[in-house]
Amino acid sequence: ASIFAFRSSHFSTAADPFSKQPNPPSVPNLIGGAFAKSQSSASIDVINPATQEIVSQVPLTTTEEFKAAVSAAKKAFQSWRNTPVTARQRVMFKLQELIRRDIDKLALNITTEQGKTLKDAHGDVFRGLEVVEHACGTATLQMGEYVSNVSNGIDTYSVREPLGVCAGICPFNFPAMIPLWMFPVAVTCGNTFILKPSEKDPGASVILAELAMEAGLPDGVLNIVHGTNDIVNAICDDDDIRAVSFVGSNTAGMHIYSRAAAKGKRVQTNMGAKNHAIIMPDASTEATLNALVAAGFGAAGQRCMALSTAVFVGDSKSWENKLVEAAKGLKVNAGTEPDADLGPVISRQAKERICKLIQSGVESGAKLLLDGRTIAVPGYEHGNFIGPTIISNVTADMECYKEEIFGPVLLCMEADSLDEAISIVNRNKYGNGASIFTTSGVAARKFQTEIEAGQVGINVPIPVPLPFFSFTGNKASFAGDLNFYGKAGVNFFTQIKTVTQQWKNLPGSSAVNLAMPTS
Ligand code: NAD
Repeated sequence: ASIFAFRSSHFSTAADPFSKQPNPPSVPNLIGGAFAKSQSSASIDVINPATQEIVSQVPLTTTEEFKAAVSAAKKAFQSWRNTPVTARQRVMFKLQELIRRDIDKLALNITTEQGKTLKDAHGDVFRGLEVVEHACGTATLQMGEYVSNVSNGIDTYSVREPLGVCAGICPFNFPAMIPLWMFPVAVTCGNTFILKPSEKDPGASVILAELAMEAGLPDGVLNIVHGTNDIVNAICDDDDIRAVSFVGSNTAGMHIYSRAAAKGKRVQTNMGAKNHAIIMPDASTEATLNALVAAGFGAAGQRCMALSTAVFVGDSKSWENKLVEAAKGLKVNAGTEPDADLGPVISRQAKERICKLIQSGVESGAKLLLDGRTIAVPGYEHGNFIGPTIISNVTADMECYKEEIFGPVLLCMEADSLDEAISIVNRNKYGNGASIFTTSGVAARKFQTEIEAGQVGINVPIPVPLPFFSFTGNKASFAGDLNFYGKAGVNFFTQIKTVTQQWKNLPGSSAVNLAMPTS
């Protein structure tokens, strides 16, 4: 049985907003192989966004506990780095099997704490599971290179060695996938790890860590510390932590990037987005509208690869009405309800912020074609629901366009030509993803070549690469130079060492030569 008994069965309804359970469970830290309740007196409520029920309490881990986690990771590194890579891979083989076994439990935890539909929560786990599968091939991915006889009797080869203690800081929107972007790659390369889950939905990380321990990960290789800004700053500042992976907003990401780099750490930060779709008039209408609705409103728009802006080129502008009809057909409900297409947004504050941005669009002259702000969801009147919202006549100077909304809101813009549409997209500061919908290979190729986004879709709305590629955000959506997962992920979590050896004409058997050696 899980040591962390979250109360997913308590899906209370409208009658008891902010229902106080007698003792909401405290989410445990994992330090040196032991799941333990934090000694901290400060904690934050984890709230079910569909009901406002307090699911659990996440502690603000103390400095002593944080130090104990780092020291456990440092100690475990000594033997883990010398554990054969095949043995490390076998832990991942077992872990992928255990995640499959417990996928329903993980998905229910995600829906309870994060709000997305159960089907979408399964996808959240599954896309992370694929990284675990890929980590089973780390030995091949970590291989070095060898050139024989670079000079007379001299060979050079490179090896990729683990860094030591690494850390990961996670956002709320993918409670399973993003921790799984991080620790499986890091630990299979031979590192040990400190994971800081989102304080809004930490449960999936704890379940995944339980499974990793069951799979045979030795004590101290994976540690979890909960908290917010203070614990994140402690991670950035700690001299024993060698690398930091971060996924989340630009405000936090750029702070972490500079603070951790100032301490000499390797840092990769995946950040915010404003993903555009360009719709050419020759695109297949129905397939394109379905794609726009799914990618704009799926997960209530809380995906970093959500399509949040549609740029209609020429005659495709007339499709807006059909788009509104398609969006009206979506069912907004608690994620555990079988008919739900989209669930609530993460918090009351998030709902307020999204509604303000919608209002600012209206006030600056945009046209509200579909307004989801006043939606009522029977049985879940206290949930943070916003229905699909579509705003047209949006221009680049509007607040709702400049800010990442991160809610079920699709902005519509217009362009007379593909050139104009590409230039709208490229002027945006973000560069996470962009898609084109067209039946013209010429238009698609031009788009692929000229667009300044890291992940490009051609008739594909959410082009998130599978783990044998990397997640390649661009411009303000990413800082660092080695991306998450794939070969770049292995490079991020390893230090390259280049060895030059001579087993012929050994030093001493030749004359002294003070010139720079050449061959
Ligand atoms: P967030 O930045 O608020 O929180 C992310 C993490 O940073 C959390 O663990 C939080 O505790 C910590 N944090 C927040 N503010 C901090 C501060 N001032 N100092 C130190 N630590 C801080 O992000 P979120 O709201 O959880 O996630 C949503 C954001 O994540 C969106 O901007 C979304 O686009 C982005 N995101 C990006 C990707 C990607 O791959 N590019 C993927 C998922 C989410």
